[in-house]
Amino acid sequence: AEELLRNTEKLGFAGQLAVSIAHEIRNPMTTVKGMLQLSSKTTNPHYYNVMMSELDRMNAIVGEFLILGRPQALQYKEEQCADILQEVLSVFEMQFEMNGIIIRTEYKEMAIIRCDRDQVKQVFLNILKNAMEALPFGGEVSIQLDMVDSYQRILFKDNGVGMTDEVKRRIGQPFHTTRRDGNGLGMMIVDKIISSHDGRLVVSSELGTGTTVEIWLPKTNE
Ligand code: ADP
Repeated sequence: AEELLRNTEKLGFAGQLAVSIAHEIRNPMTTVKGMLQLSSKTTNPHYYNVMMSELDRMNAIVGEFLILGRPQALQYKEEQCADILQEVLSVFEMQFEMNGIIIRTEYKEMAIIRCDRDQVKQVFLNILKNAMEALPFGGEVSIQLDMVDSYQRILFKDNGVGMTDEVKRRIGQPFHTTRRDGNGLGMMIVDKIISSHDGRLVVSSELGTGTTVEIWLPKTNE
C-alpha cells in the first residue's frame, strides 16, 4: 500500500511537471530549429555556438527531469546525517577550493535520521551547488548541525550575492531561475525531497549579504 501511494504521488507530480517541461523545452527547440535552417546557408560559428548552448539547456532540463521521473526504489534506512553531509562535502572540496570558497563545519549535535540516503545527498548537493554559484568571487560557506526539538537541523549559510524579494518569493517554483544556464529545478527537488521526509525547508536571504538555507529532518525515535 505504501508503494502504491508513493507511485500515485510520483505520477501526479510527474504529470504537473510534464506540462511545464514541454512548455519550457519548446522555446529553445524553436531557436535551434530556426538556426539550423539558417546554418544550412551559412557557416557563421555564432549559430553553432547558440545551437550548442541551447541544446545543453535542453539536456540539463531533461536530465533533471529524468532524475525525478526515474522509477527509483526508495530505501529508507537509519543514517547518521553528518555522514551523508561529509560524503557530499568531500565531493565538493576541490571545487570550493578552486573557487576561493572556504567551508566551515560545526557539528554541534548529530542525529540519526530515517531517510533515503541518495535523496538526502541530492538535497545537500543542490544547496551546496547554489551556494557555490552565489559566490563567483569566492567567500565562505558555513554549515552547522544542531537539534531543534526532535529535528536534526542542517544550516547552510553563504555570504554570497543573496536574493531579491521576487526570487525569494518564487524559489522552488520550477523554471524560475536567475542564472543564464540555470533551470530552476534544484530547489524544487530539494523541497520535494524534504517534504517526502516529513522535514522542513526554510530559506532566508538578503541581497548583497548572503543566504541561509535550513533543512530540518526528523530524528529517529529510539
Ligand atoms: P537554478 O540553480 O537552476 O537556478 P534553483 O532552484 O537551485 O535553480 O535556484 C533557483 C534560483 O534561486 C537561482 O537561480 C538563484 O537565483 C536563487 N538561489 C538559490 N540558492 C541561492 C543562494 N544560495 N544564493 C543566492 N541565490 C540563490
